[in-house]
Amino acid sequence: MITLPTHAARAIAQLEAAGYETWAVGGCVRDSLRGAEPHDWDLCTAAKPDQMQAVFAGERVLETGLKHGTLTVLTGGGPLEITSFRMDCGYTDGRHPDGVRFVTDVTADLARRDFTVGAMAWHPERGLCDPFGGQDDLQNGVLRAVGDPDARFTEDALRILRGVRFASQLGFAIEPETAAAMRRQVGRLVSVAAERVREELTGMLCGRFAQRALMAYSDIIIAALPELIPMVGCEQQNPHHLYTVWEHSARAVGQVPAEPGLRWAMLLHDCGKPACKTVDENGVGHFYGHPQVSREIAEQLTRRLRFSGEQTERILLLVEQHDRPLGDSDKLVRRRLVQIGEARFRDLLAIKKGDAVGQGTHPDNVAELFETERRLNHVLAQDACLSLRQLAVDGNDMTALGLHGPAVGEMLHALLDAVVDGALDNTRSALLADARARMEEPYDQ
Ligand code: ATP
Ligand code: MG
Repeated sequence: MITLPTHAARAIAQLEAAGYETWAVGGCVRDSLRGAEPHDWDLCTAAKPDQMQAVFAGERVLETGLKHGTLTVLTGGGPLEITSFRMDCGYTDGRHPDGVRFVTDVTADLARRDFTVGAMAWHPERGLCDPFGGQDDLQNGVLRAVGDPDARFTEDALRILRGVRFASQLGFAIEPETAAAMRRQVGRLVSVAAERVREELTGMLCGRFAQRALMAYSDIIIAALPELIPMVGCEQQNPHHLYTVWEHSARAVGQVPAEPGLRWAMLLHDCGKPACKTVDENGVGHFYGHPQVSREIAEQLTRRLRFSGEQTERILLLVEQHDRPLGDSDKLVRRRLVQIGEARFRDLLAIKKGDAVGQGTHPDNVAELFETERRLNHVLAQDACLSLRQLAVDGNDMTALGLHGPAVGEMLHALLDAVVDGALDNTRSALLADARARMEEPYDQ
């Protein structure tokens, strides 16, 4: 039994009053049946796009994908996506249907959908419409393609990544025939737009079962991320590391908060290790310089997948700095705060904890990171001066002392460094006196 929210029930009633069969469909039915809160409600209907427009004539409507039969009605309860029953015809580009045919039968509409658990419809009076055994699969935690799996992944290769994403989000196993077809058709992922690959993989990385999905479907994931191929099977041969580079990274991903930037950075932090690996005379593996190489590889990957500038910057900073100490004294913590700010400092704490737990060897490292976090909170609580903005003097004061051009900024930075290091009080008189003294010092030759 599913209780529809008022706005969805009302839209169904409006369409049915006009004579068009209408159902709730897809993710909202799947999530309701498994006891989770749906994040949005989609409807499908026998009404064709122009008929839908007539029914919702007095309301605010977006023509989201009218050609494909999709309309969004902006209701008080949130946007509602409504799609005409349709069959997709022809997939020459391996991604988009060449055309759609509107049909009158809900079963034909469900048949075009990718996985059985998302190919169920629900109606407040007629109940569940489940022609492909979606409910059984839901109960058994199985993702199964609707119909012939090879045909489905050939039509649209994005479904391969959707499958891995659902496995990670729901913790479901992919049914063996479906998984085998995903693997046979994995070469078709090249036809999927970079943005879509990025979004599906981001969803996968942020899933509750990401670590498990990364291990079970590593071959599919690296087909979409060929930059990472060398990580799989790369042995670390090092007493500090129990796992291969890939398994270590998968475990580390599972340890950081499910936030896109953190999860991507965690996946990528060691991607340069295979290229940096050396083995010493005792047979121990080393990876000198790997954070920089990881950053270079991550840079290519984020560019190829068209990450935003902001996301790229965050990910690359975390990858590059994941191995650098954050500070074992208040003074060092303050210095690092000046360099990277509180948000990135906290990100790095999360990354370093994930890395340490993912190694599977040194629990003491994690305890040290909690100590650093405590130190960070302590430094922040002191209301310390950590940026030029907080300094008790500014550029005008420096100009008044007779400095010009770049010398102004240089002096302010020198004063900030001295304050951060505890060598100087952040008071106007102390700072001005120190600036004057510095101006009288002879220039270094
Ligand atoms: P979620 O919204 O939680 O990611 P969902 O199952 O609702 O999951 P959507 O992308 O919102 O996924 O799509 C809604 C429904 O449309 C799906 O349940 C599925 O039935 C169908 N669908 C979406 N994309 C595809 C696709 N590429 N191929 C086949 N069916 C699809
Ligand atoms: Mg959805």
